Amino acid sequence: MTRRGLDGFLVSGIKNIRYLCGFTGDSAYLLIGRERDWFLTDSRYVTQARAEVKGAGIRVYKKPLEAIAELADEHGLRLIGFESDNLTVDACGRFRKALGRVRLKPFSGLLDALRSKKDPFEVERIRRSVRILTRCYGVVERMLRPGARECDIALAVEAAAKADGAEAMAFDTIMASGPRGALPHGKASDKRIRNGELVVVDMGVVFDGYNSDCTRTYCIGRATARVREVYQTVLDAQMRAIEMVRPGVAAAEIDRVAREHIDGAGYGAYFGHGTGHGVGLEIHERPGIGPFGKEVLAEGMVITVEPGIYIPGWGGVRIEDMLLVTADGFEILTKAPKGLVCI
Ligand code: ZN
Ligand code: ZN
Repeated sequence: MTRRGLDGFLVSGIKNIRYLCGFTGDSAYLLIGRERDWFLTDSRYVTQARAEVKGAGIRVYKKPLEAIAELADEHGLRLIGFESDNLTVDACGRFRKALGRVRLKPFSGLLDALRSKKDPFEVERIRRSVRILTRCYGVVERMLRPGARECDIALAVEAAAKADGAEAMAFDTIMASGPRGALPHGKASDKRIRNGELVVVDMGVVFDGYNSDCTRTYCIGRATARVREVYQTVLDAQMRAIEMVRPGVAAAEIDRVAREHIDGAGYGAYFGHGTGHGVGLEIHERPGIGPFGKEVLAEGMVITVEPGIYIPGWGGVRIEDMLLVTADGFEILTKAPKGLVCI
């Protein structure tokens, strides 16, 4: 703030607020001053805020932006930075009006960059989240069989995850069998799984705010030569990309290695999405691991590596692991086995 000449910085992204002061509710603002900070929320969250918020005085508002403007006036803040990626155009307009002479300056991605490197407190929570998720894959393997419905397996997994301490699923469980596997994000449907199909299973859970994310692809019955070839191509692409992971490597380079391998095997047209993403308080966060990513990997980042091949009318294969970038390389966090499993 000093370097940027700011007297204050308004944090409005709810996960950023959680990251900075511990509040787990979903309606608040955090105004950071040079000497002190103010946490603002409405009456529904006051008790919760008193229990959770650290390092900021708590204020209750009826009209949030007006309350912030009042604080700014009271404490002589003249230039306030704000998160342009976490404030609507509408709210920004009202805020400017309420602020009068106080000036606002937009910033994008400041806190996301901070959040991309996890501290030990966060890594511990991510590990717990992954541990619950790994056990979920055991449930999937026990339930996968011809005739089972995708949604019934997803339901069993979700019950197991919650019984095991997960507070929620990180996203709608993806359980895409047969031709549905060609949809990279095919949510579990009432389709029954049939012999000879591939099943893409992408799941994540939330533990104490922190997400996990993993994908495995199973084969029901005997694998054909084409299934083996596509599976091996994705697995080799993923392992090659993983081997590249270490501090100082450009995220785009990880993507390039996976993509070139799949291209070289003749399946380039069937791999459309980026190779991975950061994971933390949000399921998708910085750094983005794609062809246009500008970020460079650093120690403490937690990322996924998840190439895939999706062939319309036939099906798909994706293999996804979560990795911690360490001082000299990487640690694979997700432990579910990833050789081709035929059930
Ligand atoms: Zn995933
Ligand atoms: Zn993912």
